[in-house]
Amino acid sequence: MSSHVWCHGPYCHTHQTLDRVRGSQGSKVLRTRKIKQWRDDSLYNWFCSMHCYNEFANKYVQQIVRIAPRTEPLTTPCQIREHSNIDYYGKPYKTKSVLINAEHLGVDNE
Ligand SMILES: [Zn+2]
Repeated sequence: MSSHVWCHGPYCHTHQTLDRVRGSQGSKVLRTRKIKQWRDDSLYNWFCSMHCYNEFANKYVQQIVRIAPRTEPLTTPCQIREHSNIDYYGKPYKTKSVLINAEHLGVDNE
């Protein structure tokens, strides 16, 4: 693999920053940023910024969704228990519901 790739942001070359300017006086252009390759699993290996990543995702969202369509909701096993604080006299107060035993909380359970 090459030591660099060009940012995949579809509008990277239109963002007005001095580091994108190339060319000689009278024929200057804004150019797509070059990205050094460092980690295969990082989006920053393909996009120079979250801004360019978001522009890519917004422009190609239909194609992106077709990569892994979600036709049914996912679920993650969990339990809810009531938790009460006990006051000085041993009586419960401030009862609240607590989510426990949530496996892979926040991660899709595919
Ligand atoms: Zn970019």
